[in-house]
Amino acid sequence: MANVLITGANRGLGLEFTRQYAEAGWHVLACCRHPETAEELLQLASRFKHLVSVHKLDVGNFYQIDELAASLASQPIDVLINNAGIYPDSPHHIFGDADYEAWLQAFRINSIAPFKMAQAFTAHLKQGQLKKLVNMTSKMGSISDNTSGGSYIYRSSKTALNMVTKSLSIELAREGITALVLHPGWVLTDMGGPNALITVEQSISGLREVIDRATLADAGKFYAYDGQEIPW
Ligand code: NDP
Repeated sequence: MANVLITGANRGLGLEFTRQYAEAGWHVLACCRHPETAEELLQLASRFKHLVSVHKLDVGNFYQIDELAASLASQPIDVLINNAGIYPDSPHHIFGDADYEAWLQAFRINSIAPFKMAQAFTAHLKQGQLKKLVNMTSKMGSISDNTSGGSYIYRSSKTALNMVTKSLSIELAREGITALVLHPGWVLTDMGGPNALITVEQSISGLREVIDRATLADAGKFYAYDGQEIPW
């Protein structure tokens, strides 16, 4: 049976990843900042007792990442999904109106933490059978797709994640690990908001298919949940 580690598993896309993988019989290492209050995730963990384990992890705390990796040292991981991400509340849509602390925090969580996770968990991925590293990006990080401008903080943090993943994909391919970035669509979550176009069920069932099909030939690629390749 395969193992998947998911960050930000307590709500939104991370929670649905956990639900669908557990329903498919996978072992899920579900990580979140505050397990004690992650009610829906705890319910899933009690429904799938032997499949879902919950782990405390704030991906902005790089020591905690190292501690978790060490505590799971002998645990093979087939698929690592860096799903946790933030979209700053502070204004960043208009030139001249930016919260620089929020910008740094977005880079910490959206761009640097996935790199740190990859570094800490490469040994676990090498022990796994499937050897896949998935970084959740956004079409808003695509330079080609940017026709409306604005959203400086979020866009630039995801563009940086894309470049981090491209470099990782080249290095990790030598270890047999496929690293790629995926766009979930515009999804009805807290981040996606009420006007989003698709449900978490639609997004995650599509993303799971893309992940299942991915081979080393897809290392460094940028796909949407429906399998379409997105231009950088
Ligand atoms: P939500 O805002 O609904 O959920 C975000 C998740 O990330 C929560 O579980 C949150 O945990 C977690 N998280 C945030 N900061 C940290 C941290 N420091 N450490 C650990 N976990 C953290 O977002 P979505 O589920 O919609 O998005 C998931 C991913 O998909 C993100 O990377 C996002 O950028 C991307 N995405 C989403 C789109 C959409 O339309 N929804 C579109 C394009 C990309 P907590 O509850 O503790 O805050």
